[in-house]
Amino acid sequence: MTNGGTVLLIEDEEEIADLLRMAFDREGLHLSHATTGEDGLERLAGGDPRVVLLDVGLPGIDGFEVCRRIRSVSDVPVIMLTARDTEIDTIVGLEIGADDYVTKPFSVRELVARVKAVLRRSAETPPQRSLIEVGGFVIDGGRREVTAPDDETVRPTAREFDLLWYLAEHGGLALSRAQILEAVWGYDYFGETRTVDVHIRQLRKKLDGIPIETVWGVGYRLEP
Ligand code: CA
Repeated sequence: MTNGGTVLLIEDEEEIADLLRMAFDREGLHLSHATTGEDGLERLAGGDPRVVLLDVGLPGIDGFEVCRRIRSVSDVPVIMLTARDTEIDTIVGLEIGADDYVTKPFSVRELVARVKAVLRRSAETPPQRSLIEVGGFVIDGGRREVTAPDDETVRPTAREFDLLWYLAEHGGLALSRAQILEAVWGYDYFGETRTVDVHIRQLRKKLDGIPIETVWGVGYRLEP
């Protein structure tokens, strides 16, 4: 509406929707609310949301499957809402393409901050075409893809790519998890440094042999 456009919420709990509608109204963001995945996908097709908040536990098709279907048609940022800590690995591990997640019960303020961070990032101008080469991998900042030493092209998720790009731009430096969260996720993040770890794990899996070193007690370093 005023400055932001639409946030699409796919969530079967009305109370959460009411709470978020008020919070986003205050930020000048319109909340479009769907109570099922099917309804959410229709709204996505009919509208142009700038970010999707997606509950995992939905009646009908679940949030994981909804996310996969969103990814097959759209690059819109997706933040998953999960009721269980154990689902976090699944969100990342299944490579469904979610950008972020929050666990319930979540702080509305924190969720709003994350949405704003996502919107800020997507409003930034796309990176110039530039290449960084590490350990036989060519990371293409313009195309947002990586060519492996065996010439295979790998397309990490948006967040994984941002993380890789940040490590590559700071090649050789030991970066703390807090630093990485701030730079790549764009907000101060207390506690859940696991987010970085799971994304690093995914990168290592997708880019077999990528020289991302674990710096014990600190974080990670990409060897140039
Ligand atoms: Ca639910």
